[in-house]
Amino acid sequence: MKTLLPTSTAGSLPKPSWLATPETLWSPWKLDGEELVSGKQDALRLAVADQRQAGIDIVGDGEQTRQHFVTTFVEHLDGVDFEKRETVRIRNRYDASVPTVVGAVSRPKSVFVEDAKFLRAQTDQPIKWTLPGPMTMIDTLYDAHYKSREKLAWEFAQILNEEARELEAAGVDIVQFDEPAFNVFFDEANDWGIATLERAASGLKCETAVHICDGYGIKANTDWKKTLGDEWRQYEQTFPNLQKSKIDIISLECQHSHVPMELIELVRGKKVMVGAIDVATDAIETPEEVAETLRKALRFVDADKLYPCTNCGMTPLSRRVANGKLKALGAGAEIVRKELAA
Ligand SMILES: [Zn+2]
Repeated sequence: MKTLLPTSTAGSLPKPSWLATPETLWSPWKLDGEELVSGKQDALRLAVADQRQAGIDIVGDGEQTRQHFVTTFVEHLDGVDFEKRETVRIRNRYDASVPTVVGAVSRPKSVFVEDAKFLRAQTDQPIKWTLPGPMTMIDTLYDAHYKSREKLAWEFAQILNEEARELEAAGVDIVQFDEPAFNVFFDEANDWGIATLERAASGLKCETAVHICDGYGIKANTDWKKTLGDEWRQYEQTFPNLQKSKIDIISLECQHSHVPMELIELVRGKKVMVGAIDVATDAIETPEEVAETLRKALRFVDADKLYPCTNCGMTPLSRRVANGKLKALGAGAEIVRKELAA
């Protein structure tokens, strides 16, 4: 990355009201058939335009072609029955009705590669594509076949690796795996979660990132966060092993998140996507607030490795708020760039 402090988002942006219900997570599509295909592409173009206007350097698709960051991927796999549903506890936090793994899982064809090619055609800037991580995938399913979280995670790692290699070939510069489950299942993350993540990323020449967070700003998450105490030190459990891993970039939430900033020191040497935008509030940060968070992070990460970002996805926000936050991120990074250049 040639730009100093290259900005990006964690992934999702709000969808236009003609495509899905605004300010709603996992909203069903309002279009179908051919109209849905072109509607998603139009939304993707708008998401790219909004990011460019805000001065975002690493552009994403705003996850405009996806309903859910895990299930939309899983829907394309064999071995998972979406009719057969079981209620499970997601990340030990809330109950959800999820599909069942009924046989050997496989990916009959690529899932997001056409969408990624479409994004690639929209911009010359570096692009980032998000995929769920293996451990977060298994946590969003009921497994009636492998009957082993670890075994299923290794299967998904293989499938994700096939997809990631095709995304790289389509011109994606950074493949990001979302692993919020790392902040909940520390022992499993250290025993095999990070290893399966590395398997998902193996052989890639493009950059790889892992996004770990405490979730969207939905009630189940904000209630859970209240139980975490004043300091959120969960990252402390997995960062030492992530530092030793082959993953290039670590993404975490730092704006209003109670995550002690010094924990970033534990991944010294890695690039760090520092969340400088709170996605759990409609209050739009000022560029100066963003800059202040980045300055604090610079005590623990070298300037050439600091990637300003949002705490998490912005799907649940209004487009007005999300656009304001994008602009604050772009402007806040610019303030710190100037300071570093001075
Ligand atoms: Zn997140």
